[in-house]
Amino acid sequence: MNHGALPNVLVDRFGRKVDYIRLSITDRCDFRCVYCMSEDVQFLPRDEVLSLEECARLVKAFVSLGVKKVRITGGEPLVRKDALWLFNEIGHLQGLNELVVTTNGSQLEHQAQALKKAGVRRINISLDSLDAARFHQITRVGDLDKVMRGIAAAKQAGFERIKLNALLMRGRNEDEAIPLVAFAVEQGLDIAFIEEMPLGVVSHDRESSYVSNHGTLKLLRARYDLIGSIETTGGPARYWRVPNTDTRVGFISPHSHNFCESCNRVRISSKGEMYLCLGQENKVDLAPLLRNFPNDNQPLKEAIINSMQVKPKGHDFNLKRVEPAVIRFMSHTGG
Ligand code: SAM
Ligand code: SF4
Repeated sequence: MNHGALPNVLVDRFGRKVDYIRLSITDRCDFRCVYCMSEDVQFLPRDEVLSLEECARLVKAFVSLGVKKVRITGGEPLVRKDALWLFNEIGHLQGLNELVVTTNGSQLEHQAQALKKAGVRRINISLDSLDAARFHQITRVGDLDKVMRGIAAAKQAGFERIKLNALLMRGRNEDEAIPLVAFAVEQGLDIAFIEEMPLGVVSHDRESSYVSNHGTLKLLRARYDLIGSIETTGGPARYWRVPNTDTRVGFISPHSHNFCESCNRVRISSKGEMYLCLGQENKVDLAPLLRNFPNDNQPLKEAIINSMQVKPKGHDFNLKRVEPAVIRFMSHTGG
């Protein structure tokens, strides 16, 4: 089919360049973290979830429109059968500078090397506690030893950087900021603290469990001579360096620091909905464009380009609101 030329860069109406996508390849997970999912979470029927071939087609379309960085996430991306096929399919795409993955670490023991070989450069591993019993409580089912073996395998595989993601909750693990940083230092890893966001209804009150990064930073500065860093990984995190170590400590603070003005990303759910903001409902359903035009990427690309006109200016998180900011869980949108 002959179509007009399309731009090779995505820019929204506020002049923000979108060159980063986060693609959830499954809403399923082998953990049930208390802040992320309800205990009786209902997963999508399998036929609603994009096939891995459709995921690969999407990534290729976005890369042709100027996307340089792709994060594969979920749910737990590495529990999806044949996920490695996708990593191999897109890992060495021309124009894609960075393929990264966010994982809970449970499958890394067996998959870290293959991911590295497929072209994954950096990896984020979620770790909220160093205490096995607490880890089990927070994840409802997780086995800390297995995740630790996964972290060791990731180190062994030789990724450029490994970053731990930690979410602190009052009454559960808020006293682990220093031990978690000490662990990151000992292992030569980065670590970022993520503030809990009101995404979906969970069994606890988010306002009372909320731990601000402001407080965590204060606590850490009393222990470490943290040095402010101008380095960024292109994301919303602010970084500090632990002197005389390789470790950077990041803070992702949607409440206390609004990072929307530099937003460079969109998220795609495992059923192909493109969310233009984590904290707003604006979305474009890409699945019909993949399925109704199996051999023509033009309608898909046009929809992506047009979506830039509806990307919201920013999120509007408010912990005091009775209703969550958005009804969908992080595992649905893709973390
Ligand atoms: N399963 C993988 C993992 O846990 O890393 C990838 C998906 S998970 C949704 C990605 C990140 O989202 C995790 O680091 C998790 O801590 C974070 N997350 C989940 N629910 C959250 C919430 N309500 N607020 C803030 N972060 C959340
Ligand atoms: Fe699973 Fe990650 Fe959500 Fe935990 S945070 S339930 S590991 S998707």
